[in-house]
Amino acid sequence: MSQRRVAALIGSPVEHSLSPVIHQAAFDAAGVDWTYAAFEVAPGGAGEAIAAMRVLGIVGLSVTMPHKHDVAAAVDRLDPAAEALRSVNTVSWHDDELVGSSTDGAGFVSSLASDGVEVAGAAVAVIGAGGAARSIIDELGRVGAASIRVINRTPERAVSACELAAVAAVGSSDDIADAHIVVNASSVGMGVDPTTAMADDLPCDPSLLNAAQVVVDLVYHPLQTAWLLQAEGAGARTIDGLGMLIHQAALQQQVWLGQVPDVGVMRRAAEVALADRQP
Ligand code: NAP
Repeated sequence: MSQRRVAALIGSPVEHSLSPVIHQAAFDAAGVDWTYAAFEVAPGGAGEAIAAMRVLGIVGLSVTMPHKHDVAAAVDRLDPAAEALRSVNTVSWHDDELVGSSTDGAGFVSSLASDGVEVAGAAVAVIGAGGAARSIIDELGRVGAASIRVINRTPERAVSACELAAVAAVGSSDDIADAHIVVNASSVGMGVDPTTAMADDLPCDPSLLNAAQVVVDLVYHPLQTAWLLQAEGAGARTIDGLGMLIHQAALQQQVWLGQVPDVGVMRRAAEVALADRQP
């Protein structure tokens, strides 16, 4: 009799994470006999969680806040993106070594590609300079974006994020109107009902957006943010935050299983889970 294998998420909090439904839906659709658990691990506990992964034989690990940095120090090796970011969202076994990867940035690019949007050669404006922004800036540099302008409330964090890509520079709102692709990688708009949103709930003045642009919001709660609705009103093509979430998870499954999961199944599972919790 085969023994069911366990993959897991560590983070704090994990209670509302969509990862369990997304991953389990893909395992089940592919007939993979894996189960996906979510473990609440208190800040500072990442090293012990990695030790537990080794002892318990957990076959794959997803890592979310606040452990991404600590896990980078606890695994045996890092892939190039995880090394550059010193941040890990995926842990996998390679022989008897634990390898840390970062699939967030590649998931972002893969999400855009699946919507027919090419980032190579594009001028990209990124609003935000936190963990999500850093992962996409690093990947945009790797895949040949023509320019990246980083606009952030705290300028020092924008300067630091720009060190991840040679074509990145600190920008201002003036750069937004000229960009081919505008990304909200800040948490502005998260948890805000679009029908009651105020100007402060928008990552930039929507009058800077236009019909020639692709506008991407990484916020996925709610899925249709007030900013995306405004972008749609300006005629821009819009992409919601579930795209990146699903594609980074799909890349995790490729790392663990060596096979491409059904992203349609993953997205539908996430949409059902999200429908219960729209603000
Ligand atoms: P983070 O590391 O905490 O960074 C937050 C960013 O938002 C910082 O740049 C911060 O600016 C900015 N910010 C926060 N409040 C602001 C305000 N009131 N006005 C202006 N800027 C503000 O968070 P993160 O992990 O990068 O996540 C950012 C967002 O992306 C969250 O909504 C998260 O849910 C989403 N996300 C989505 C995905 C996905 O797969 N779709 C993946 C990761 C994250 P300062 O530097 O000035 O503080």
